[in-house]
Amino acid sequence: MNYVTDDTLNTYLRTVQPMYDGVLGEIQREAIAAEVPIIPLETARLLSVLLSMQKPKHILEIGTAVAFSAGLMCRYLPPDGTLTTIDRFEVMLQDARTNIKRMGLEHQIQLLEGDAADILPTLQGPYDVIFLDAAKGQYSNFLPHCLRLLPVGGLLIVDDVLQGGTIAQTRFSVPRRQRTIHKRLRNFLWDITHHEALETSIIPIGDGLALCYKKKEVSDPEKGE
Ligand code: SAM
Repeated sequence: MNYVTDDTLNTYLRTVQPMYDGVLGEIQREAIAAEVPIIPLETARLLSVLLSMQKPKHILEIGTAVAFSAGLMCRYLPPDGTLTTIDRFEVMLQDARTNIKRMGLEHQIQLLEGDAADILPTLQGPYDVIFLDAAKGQYSNFLPHCLRLLPVGGLLIVDDVLQGGTIAQTRFSVPRRQRTIHKRLRNFLWDITHHEALETSIIPIGDGLALCYKKKEVSDPEKGE
């Protein structure tokens, strides 16, 4: 996993901030040991603060993995709140199903199995928070759906937006195989930072987190612009 901040700082941030308790903490430790790409602790702690402030009733997550971040976000839902999460990778889905049961969250989490590109157009929403943590190359394609599904006042949180910090380099200085993602991520970052309906901040934490607050309706809902 690539991180934007240096190893010493990461180690410090992961020492000073406690891991999560209960079954969620067990899932977090198991995922780290198995090198499953869950959000790092410092990103998780920021999510905890944001969700405490936002007080969502309905959350959408794109990229479940083993349901660590899904379980975490459920902690900030009211008893009748819901979390819908999407993944397409059967190996992850198996562990996600098991972990959702272990956490006793079957009543709150709806796990949608398939490609988000196919599932997003079928969702009605609204979702007060959308957490986008999937294939970076598709973020721009998912953005119009996220904007459609978010109400005004909703928060879109996007993980892994800084490509280990190489996003700041010219495309010719990143390895050739990473250039397509580099270009797509740069276009995505341009879109969310210049969108008339969004107030956006990009935070160099973990592998980069973008926070997009929807401040007004989009003028062209068809295009999400
Ligand atoms: N949010 C998780 C956490 O922190 O606990 C980690 C998610 S992991 C970084 C990304 C996940 O997104 C993987 O499990 C992958 O299978 C899934 N994914 C990537 N692209 C996807 C797509 N187009 N549709 C559905 N799932 C996708």
